[in-house]
Amino acid sequence: MFENYYADTINSKVLYEEATTIIPYGVSSNYRFFDPYPLYLKRGKGSKVWDVDGNEYIDFNLGFGVLEVGHSNEIVAEEVYNAFKESSILGFEYCKAIELAKIIKKRYNVDMVRFSSTGTEATMHSIRIARAYSRKKKIIKFEGHYHGSHDQLLVNVNPTKEGIVPSSLGIPEEVIKNTLIAEWNNLESFEKIIRENKDIGAVIMEPIAMNMGLIPTKLDFLKGVVELSRENNIVVIFDETKTGGKYNSGAAGYFNLEPDIKVIGKSIAGGLPLSVIAGKKEIMSVIGPGKVAHGGTFNANPLSVRAAIVTLEKILTENAFYHMHRLSEILESGYKDIAEDSKIELSVTRWGPSGSIYFLDKVPMSYKEFIKADFGKWGTYFFAMLSQGVIPMAGFNEQWTISIKHSEEDIRKHLECADNAIKLAKN
Ligand code: PLP
Repeated sequence: MFENYYADTINSKVLYEEATTIIPYGVSSNYRFFDPYPLYLKRGKGSKVWDVDGNEYIDFNLGFGVLEVGHSNEIVAEEVYNAFKESSILGFEYCKAIELAKIIKKRYNVDMVRFSSTGTEATMHSIRIARAYSRKKKIIKFEGHYHGSHDQLLVNVNPTKEGIVPSSLGIPEEVIKNTLIAEWNNLESFEKIIRENKDIGAVIMEPIAMNMGLIPTKLDFLKGVVELSRENNIVVIFDETKTGGKYNSGAAGYFNLEPDIKVIGKSIAGGLPLSVIAGKKEIMSVIGPGKVAHGGTFNANPLSVRAAIVTLEKILTENAFYHMHRLSEILESGYKDIAEDSKIELSVTRWGPSGSIYFLDKVPMSYKEFIKADFGKWGTYFFAMLSQGVIPMAGFNEQWTISIKHSEEDIRKHLECADNAIKLAKN
């Protein structure tokens, strides 16, 4: 499986060996590591990236879904350069943060907005805000959902046994004893937890589960979760770190459901770090000195703010979404044709500019169904894609993303390579 990879990526291997002497596993985020060694990239432009061996790849990972504007987008680059000439960080509130807050308020139908830099920080703060507002301790999350790498929510992301399982070493039981786990797309499991527990202050979810590939959401289930939460005074948090930038008004807008708090991140700042905690005024008003702590040196820094304003106002327009969704649909139907022609157990899902494939007879609807997929076949497919110059997605639990810079030719090449890769995986 790795033959071509070894031959094509010698310099990545050399860098990996050097990196491991100083950076654990040679990577700055565990999720960038894969066996036998990860790729080391040096440059990206539009829909493409280049590695240290000079290999060119059409990139459908796009920084784990960040770069809907494409790599090194010209409009973002110019704005960030101009912003930097004025300042990169001011240490006081940046005047244009208000402009960005207004854009977010209108686009995502929220009352108030606070900025952080990453999805992890924003979900962590959203939980604190919800607890302070509800004055209740317990929180519910869903199995297989990922909300960043802080302790309270790094639970049952990829459990290998029953019960409440921390998804990292170093998380004390005491820290997660107030985190309860429900099954995605299963309202009964959610209802049971509410029946059996008191003191539940918040429920957090990815409205479309995008850390198990891309699991479709049953609308009745999602509506049920929101309604039951309202009845029981539980604050509803949609973690739209990934979904927020994939439709004009995110998944909440798409489903026409209003959570109490939305967390938005990844693609909204065109490649710069910026995340948003947004919600109803009465809830967001708990934040402030002497009340709920929310801080961050880099929060709403001029570079990220200016990048987000141009990304949302000038780049991620209705036309841009039309383009990304249309190409994504072509990719989805191409994969479905490959599945049918090759007679392999392969299921395909899509939502907007993103989609995923599973080596499984049907699309999974929960974590328990997801882990039945054949990940060995996925590995063969992945390395066969890399060796043909396509990064299809970052891992078996990830999804493709289309940017405004992808072309029909990129999709055609992706499908041609996928056809070869899936045939290889079948044998
Ligand atoms: N929430 C979701 C749904 C995510 O997918 C991620 C990252 O992939 C995060 C939160 C964490 O975001 P970050 O990596 O910016 O901390």
